[in-house]
Amino acid sequence: MSRLNVVATPIGNLGDISLRALDVLKSVDFIICEDTRVTGKLLNYFEIKKEMVVLNARNEQNRIEYISQKIKSGQPAALVSDAGTPCISDPGVRLVSQLISDSIEVVGIPGANAAILALSISGIPSDSFVFEGFLPNKKGRQKKLKILAEEERTIILYESMYRIEKLLNELNEYMPARYVAVFRELTKKFEESWTGYPNQILEDLKSKTTKGEFVVIVSPINWKKEK
Ligand code: SAM
Repeated sequence: MSRLNVVATPIGNLGDISLRALDVLKSVDFIICEDTRVTGKLLNYFEIKKEMVVLNARNEQNRIEYISQKIKSGQPAALVSDAGTPCISDPGVRLVSQLISDSIEVVGIPGANAAILALSISGIPSDSFVFEGFLPNKKGRQKKLKILAEEERTIILYESMYRIEKLLNELNEYMPARYVAVFRELTKKFEESWTGYPNQILEDLKSKTTKGEFVVIVSPINWKKEK
């Protein structure tokens, strides 16, 4: 049966893997991953031995044909990323798109996703939101921030430890009156969160480590936090 299973894996806490994800990872012929060291650790932990095929931002275009042929020849596959849900700020979108065009069945095995987890515990309206992922590093960053300053929906941003302070300074400049929730190391041992206006969070962060991974939730433009 030609099939690609898009399998979500934990974003930190290995206990968050689903029973179905484990069943699928055990049953497929090969696993498409970003980095064999990262996925190798996950597979080792769950005592799963499988062939791994690397697919990342650099080789995605070249690998699609090879993977597509392999699946068509009757070898079901699983696509995972280093953490969370594949194709969400992670490689795989072009592969999935091509397989759909080739009439190969694509099935999702849901699980952890940092954006949705952060939104669900932010207390900020979630009925309508825009997922921006990472803002551009340099070119286009200011332009994007100006557009987002007018955004009426809740905004979800991903940020690395290298730019979290920069991002909060920019939020303070472009949208100082927006209530914000910042999450660090979700589901991990040193998970932390901060809420408030960008200047307050910048102040709180001064005494804290900014190591790790971050999700930032920005409230809608006309929303005011009640007590
Ligand atoms: N596919 C992943 C998902 O489903 O969430 C996202 C991958 S993206 C390359 C990595 C970014 O996601 C990090 O830089 C961070 O912004 C966010 N992220 C991933 N895991 C996280 C965690 N445990 N805590 C906070 N943010 C996290």
